[in-house]
Amino acid sequence: MLTHQEIKRYSRQLLLDDIDEEGQRNIANAHVVIIGLGGLGSVAARYLIGAGVAAQCKARATAPSCEGKLTLVDGDTVDVSNLQRQTSYNEMHLGELKTNALKSELQKVNPHANIELKSRFADSKNLHTIIQNATCVLDCTDNVTVRKAINKVCVSAKVPLFIASASGLTWQAININSALNESGCYHCLVSHIKVNENCISQGILGPVVGMAACHQATQVLLYLAKKAHANIKWGHYIHADAAQGKMQSFFLPPSANCEVCQ
Ligand SMILES: [Zn+2]
Repeated sequence: MLTHQEIKRYSRQLLLDDIDEEGQRNIANAHVVIIGLGGLGSVAARYLIGAGVAAQCKARATAPSCEGKLTLVDGDTVDVSNLQRQTSYNEMHLGELKTNALKSELQKVNPHANIELKSRFADSKNLHTIIQNATCVLDCTDNVTVRKAINKVCVSAKVPLFIASASGLTWQAININSALNESGCYHCLVSHIKVNENCISQGILGPVVGMAACHQATQVLLYLAKKAHANIKWGHYIHADAAQGKMQSFFLPPSANCEVCQ
């Protein structure tokens, strides 16, 4: 049972069949890992905390503690050039670790949220520890090498991975669930198409990366609420043109010779 306060706080999304009370409990009990706290991660985190991810359940007499947790991973500090698109930060945060700055902002939304910080950059050496016991992972990095490493670890551990990226006036996304064994992984994708580099080389408009983050947060919430019955697509690569308002998607088949997922 949700408490009266929880019903009031989440009332708008509880009306959705894709969430409902059971889904809300699942969202609160999930362990979500966000890797990269820039234009994607800092925005997605705000929506996830708002929706009840990592919400502590101290007020619930029948379930005094929840397992839910939000893990934030980044070794970077807030720079003035981030404020154009990383909407959770402001001038008060300049020079501060993004993990600390974001946690303080998220706790203004829900002071009881269970937020864990890993103030270092993810790499192939620490990723296994970082994603341990995760319900799902959001790849919010802007680096192809790190993204490949995250993909490899998530595929191996069969942890659902939600990837998004943006550059110029376009954004891209794909949900990968190797437990289903149906679609290809990020390694398969980069063998098919040329992927974007980062926003330093390509340029980026703030709201465009915000669209990608909102898509990512939407997919994650729908997944957390209903898991295997979630109304989302796995293995479909989305490419959106924000200027023209066009979105295309195609199913990514596994590559027969993929060294990661096959
Ligand atoms: Zn693959």
